[in-house]
This record gives sequence, C-alpha cells and structure tokens, in this order.
Amino acid sequence: MRRFSTGEYLGAALRAAFVAPAYLLRPYRSRAHIERFQFNRIRKLLFHAYTHSEFYRTKYRAAGIHPRDFQSLGDLIHFPTVSKDEMIQAISANALHSNSKFGQGSIESVSSGSSGKVIRVSHNVNETHAYAVGRYRILNMRRNLSPFDKTLYVYTSEFPARSFFGFYRSYFISTLNDITDTIQKIMHIRPAVLCIYPSHLFEIARHIPLTQARGLKLKLISLNSEMSSAAQRAALAEFFGCPVLDEYSTEELGWVAAECSHGTYHVWEDMAYLEILDDSDERRITGEIVGTNLHNFATPFIRYRQGDLGTLGTGSCACGRSTIQLTGLLGRRNDSFVLNGQTLTPAYLLDTVYNLLLVDRFPIADFCLIQDAQDSVRMQLVLQVARADDIASEVKRSLQNLLPSGTRVQVEITNTLLKTLTGKRNPIISLLSQ
Ligand SMILES: [Zn+2]
Repeated sequence: MRRFSTGEYLGAALRAAFVAPAYLLRPYRSRAHIERFQFNRIRKLLFHAYTHSEFYRTKYRAAGIHPRDFQSLGDLIHFPTVSKDEMIQAISANALHSNSKFGQGSIESVSSGSSGKVIRVSHNVNETHAYAVGRYRILNMRRNLSPFDKTLYVYTSEFPARSFFGFYRSYFISTLNDITDTIQKIMHIRPAVLCIYPSHLFEIARHIPLTQARGLKLKLISLNSEMSSAAQRAALAEFFGCPVLDEYSTEELGWVAAECSHGTYHVWEDMAYLEILDDSDERRITGEIVGTNLHNFATPFIRYRQGDLGTLGTGSCACGRSTIQLTGLLGRRNDSFVLNGQTLTPAYLLDTVYNLLLVDRFPIADFCLIQDAQDSVRMQLVLQVARADDIASEVKRSLQNLLPSGTRVQVEITNTLLKTLTGKRNPIISLLSQ
C-alpha cells in the first residue's frame, strides 16, 4: 500500500479520533444497535453499487432485484453472491465503477492468497479511519495497549500510516526478509505487539533460545493470514511468555474477526456483515463464508464468496463482547481433502495432525500437509534433529492411521516448506483444486 499524503493522514487521523468512541463501544452494544448500523451501511452500499457499478447493476437486474427491495438485513439473501473470479474480471474490465472518481486518490492493496489469483482492491481514503480504529481494537484485544507501545508488523506490505500523532507507533519488516535479520530487528525495535504469520513465528522460535524469547517481554503476538490451531498457539504462547491470539482478516472484507483472551473469535460486525452459505446458497450454520465489506465503496464487496469455510454462533463471552462469534474457522474451502469419499477440512487436518505430533512427540519443527492426487497425501517435515530416516517412517505410519484407508502417504524431510511467492504459507494445501 502507498503511504498517506500529509492531508490524507490528517483527515484520516482526525476522523478516526472522532469515530473511535463509537467503534470501541460497538462490540459491547445490543443486537438491535449493531443490526441497525449494518442495515444502514448495506443499504447505502447497495444503492451506491447499483448506481455506479455496471457489474452490480447488470447482476441485480438479471436477478430481478433492486436496492429498494432491501427492507431488512434478512433481505440481503435475495441479492446474488459474487465470486473472486467475477470480481477480478470486473475490476480488469473497469466494470466496477462507471464513474472513475471512485478510484481517484484511493489506496490500492493486492491480495494473492494461496490460490495465487491476484485481486487488486481499492480503498477510499475517506473510509480508512474505520480500518484504523478496527486495527486498534485488534491490538488492544487484551485492553492493555499503551499509546507509547510499539507494534511491529512482519507483513507483505506496510499500512498507509506509521503512528497516530506520534503515539501507537508501528514498524514494518517484509515477510521476505532474511529470518536472522528479522530477529535482529525485532530485538532492536523491542515491540510490545508483534503481528506475524504463524509460519514466521515458528521459524523465529526455532532460531532463538527460550530466554531470548521471554526477554522480549511482548504484551501480545497477533497471528493472521495462515491457519494455526489452538494447540499451536498455546505452544507458542508458552515459548514467548505472552498471549498468542489469532485474527482473521482479508484484503476484500477487511477486519473480519479476532480471538479474545478467552479463545472466542469475535466477528467485527461493524466492519463486515457475514453470512454462511452452503452450495445450495441457503443460509446455513456451517459452510462457505460470504461477507459484505461495510466500508469499501471504491471496490464494493457485497455478498462476496471469500472461499473460506466457517461456522457462526452466538453466546456470551467472559470478555463482555456481545458480538456474533466465528465458532469454527475451518480453512480455505479449496484446501479441504477429499479422500475415499470423505471430506476433511483444513482445520480438522491441522488440529488432528498437530495433536498427533504432540502426543507422539516427534522432533518436528514445522510441517505442511499436501494432497497431491486423488488418493495421495504428501507431508513435508522440517525436523529439529539431523536423524531423519526413522522419524520419516514413524510419521508415515502414524499419518496412515489418521487418514482414510486406501490413502497413499509420502513423508519428505526438507528445510523449505511449500509457500506462495509472497511468503505466505498454508500448512494444509490441496493441489487438486488450485
Ligand atoms: Zn471474548
């Protein structure tokens, strides 16, 4: 992302300060309050898209629906969903906005994802204050962030601003940076909050001793972009001596949900309106996550099929936030394994394999599980020790017991796990649907 100009920065920072109290309170407010907020934003977004976007207008006309038909949140289900492929095509054909002023002065971010399909998302500068306050809520998930705390992002790209009037300073290191240099920089910057991919954090944990990890005195490690299991996060929290919480965000939908200290994934309902669909396009409890970004008018994502599988739920949480909860984040839909007629979600595979490794106590530093044929699974392993042959055959045996019968299993010892070009890595990958 490009940096803000001085004028843009001042505008965004002042707007963020103005709206902050409402955004900080909203996760604790009543359903009626939050649903009223969502309804007003979605209505505005639908009319905006219908008026200015040939892509959405054509789609809605073909479905015989008009933004006027949106009379309650439940009516959104009558509007067609949009896929990543459709959005990529509409953006490249300039069909998303008939009026080019919506693209002017916007900030562009690029999402690759592990599918390798690149989508270019524009964000209005005058809506970025909502993202800024939303970001603050994630960093302050444990309500202990001080204005003098530094945040370090080991990320693919930098955010448009580096501080809030000199407070809440942030630093950036590219995920492609050499790991030894990244560690030196972390030691030098001494952040209070570290935002990083799970695979990078594991790599750092392999390179530094426990005393050095604890000596960082981090307040929080915030994980994102790749799947991690609760057991993995607990192991990392133990090593670094601080809470390790996950958050779920995408370039398309913004900040979607974040884990609190009690292990609940709270949906940021004033950022994205979530629905769960199954293949028959009906509202279901478990299925594909479909989201509407409530703050992006430059590239509207309305009922966007994110490609991830999840479960939504309600209930109280000891932290006091009253939001809807993402009770299961099951991974990328395309990375589910189908073996012998059985569908295994990435979350299931990750949890089961990781727990198996904990129980069997193999000296494994990291792994990647890949379905590379209809009946075949390959496991890449990074080991903590040099002795490899025995471990490979023992892991193979354990894995064979875990997967449906008839599955061919290969175990490969390596130092380089499968990654995308941007350095992102999913521990569970299906090559069949890429
Ligand atoms: Zn909570």
